[in-house]
Amino acid sequence: MDYKEILDKIEKVLEGNAHLDDLAKRGRDPFKVLISTILSARTKDANTKAATDKLFAKYNTPQLIAQGDIEELENLIRQSGFYRVKAARIKDVSKIILNDYNGKVPEDYEELIALPGVGSKTANCVLVYGFNVPAIPVDTHVHRISNRLGWVKTKKPEETEKALSKIIPKEQWIRINRIFVKFGQQICVPINPKHQLCPIEDICPKDFTMENEMKKARERRKNQ
Ligand code: SF4
Repeated sequence: MDYKEILDKIEKVLEGNAHLDDLAKRGRDPFKVLISTILSARTKDANTKAATDKLFAKYNTPQLIAQGDIEELENLIRQSGFYRVKAARIKDVSKIILNDYNGKVPEDYEELIALPGVGSKTANCVLVYGFNVPAIPVDTHVHRISNRLGWVKTKKPEETEKALSKIIPKEQWIRINRIFVKFGQQICVPINPKHQLCPIEDICPKDFTMENEMKKARERRKNQ
């Protein structure tokens, strides 16, 4: 399969930039990408962007966030949801970056995932959007679309990352998250995907197995 050609076709029909892509285009700042990705948990891009802008207008370095007043941090990031947990987390992470890494975010996957609350997706986002290093951050869009396309047959995002890294040429890794996040927001959306607008409908098996199994598991849990 020519993954480059497929990604090119999708990219052509997409509009605008997703939040992290936009951040990277405005100047690579690994610390901002790291904090913004932590803020992005369980919320939409628009909320993440608003919270990031508000926070960084006042606190834009590890030192400032590490020493910031927790209630003020909570207020600044309130729009991202779960703001108490997230404020504590960004403060902890900033302290470690400041004390253990001399205020500079490490450009290393293992060091990144050792930070509190930083998982594989966040570490890979920092590598891709903060440092321009090839990696495949697998969020809900990348996981869903890769399964629908039949590129992977996986249950969890971590499995998708491993499976994709085996089949996609490394020079295309850096594009996958950027393209699939926008594709997942604009066309291959979670509910009622817009197949009629899709530029790759002719090669898509529309495999919804993973989503159907997740739905069934949710229903089983509800009925227990
Ligand atoms: S055909 Fe439908 S399911 Fe397949 S990639 Fe396009 S929008 Fe998604």
